[in-house]
Amino acid sequence: MSHPPAPSPLMLLSTDFDGTLIEHGNPAPFSPLLVEILNVLRARGVRWAINTGRTLDSLEEGLESFALPVHPDFALTAEREIYRPGAEGRGWVDFGDWNELCARRHRTMFEAAGPALREVTDFVERHTGAEVRYGRHLRGRDGQPELAGLVATDSAEMDRIVAFIDRFKGQIPDFSYQRNAIYLSFCHAAYDKGTTLKALGDMIGLGPEAIFAVGDQENDLPMLTGVHARHTACPANSSEQVKETVRRAGGYVARDSFSAGVIEALRFYCEDLGG
Ligand SMILES: [Mg+2]
Repeated sequence: MSHPPAPSPLMLLSTDFDGTLIEHGNPAPFSPLLVEILNVLRARGVRWAINTGRTLDSLEEGLESFALPVHPDFALTAEREIYRPGAEGRGWVDFGDWNELCARRHRTMFEAAGPALREVTDFVERHTGAEVRYGRHLRGRDGQPELAGLVATDSAEMDRIVAFIDRFKGQIPDFSYQRNAIYLSFCHAAYDKGTTLKALGDMIGLGPEAIFAVGDQENDLPMLTGVHARHTACPANSSEQVKETVRRAGGYVARDSFSAGVIEALRFYCEDLGG
């Protein structure tokens, strides 16, 4: 006996950008079918957030350069900020007072972490080929621009840097970082893609059972454990650690990569999308 497809439980989608929606180096970096599917879901009232380690400026650049013909309802940037589109869909504005509080807590953390971050800078400059990045809006106690993140030359080099940084974890209140392959950015320990997604869900009245999250790298782990999003997935190009986390959360590990993998996952959770 045939039965109608179950209604989709998904009301909020949280998708990573680079390596999940977008395949770098491919002249067709995303599938037009994904755009169609996102439009179908959004017509049903499903909301879509891009949840990325990119800063807002960098995400805007990315959206423009890859010419994604659909705009998200929310931009979750730097693994901690929450924006919604501005008036008439132009630009982005803070969603509630979350970003203000987030910035204040980061300033306090960075002030306390100043001496440790100078040691990290010294280590990185002496012993590695990694590039240091300073925060435009971050200032240490002495008014100098604060170290915001690092870009290593390869993954093994970042492993060595992380081992050095980990000495300071637990010693400085709220000091933490997010790593994405060769990229690392320092942050307040209370903020990651998972806690930021939970905050967005709280603000729009949606709990984990209505939330879907998909990502491919280490900084996506906090939104893929099943806690903040009950429906999790990763494309086939994801790191082993991500696949293992998604499996343990009872989520969906796609056979296909990048946006094709995201389509596969959305079809898995929304039977009525066909496929
Ligand atoms: Mg990614």
